[in-house]
Amino acid sequence: MADITVKDTQAQVVAKETYPSKLELSSEAWEVMRKDAENRFPFECCGFFYGKDGEVRKVSLTTVVENSKEGDQRRRFEISPLDYMRAEKKAAVEGLDLLGIYHSHPNHPAIPSVYDLKQAVPHFSYIIVSVKEAAFDHVRSWRLNDDGKFAEEQINY
Ligand SMILES: [Zn+2]
Repeated sequence: MADITVKDTQAQVVAKETYPSKLELSSEAWEVMRKDAENRFPFECCGFFYGKDGEVRKVSLTTVVENSKEGDQRRRFEISPLDYMRAEKKAAVEGLDLLGIYHSHPNHPAIPSVYDLKQAVPHFSYIIVSVKEAAFDHVRSWRLNDDGKFAEEQINY
């Protein structure tokens, strides 16, 4: 019974087809999000990443943002409008494209939730870092497709 519910929910959120774009992270950009995910355990961390857009999105910079979600941050994250504005400014100052948002899933696979889908905006890549007991486990990236579902995109780091 529980299994069926999980699968149904996933089918609403995750597309069967993968996204044609690809993410390539510099080791610096990757280390910032991996460490943030581990340090914030058992809570969800979040932040922005920047780089050059294209068929291959080259990520060169990551900024950590405070999780502004009130209440239980073990299963939720929220980024304030002010932090969105700061991120856009940062991109302009650095001459980079704002490419997306990362967050962590503590003791949970890197598959987006219904809540993640509701928060998602087009063109952003959504990196999810799965952390088990404060240690990095795996990472996946997702992007909204034309059907409004998350399609997985390849990520190299
Ligand atoms: Zn999530």
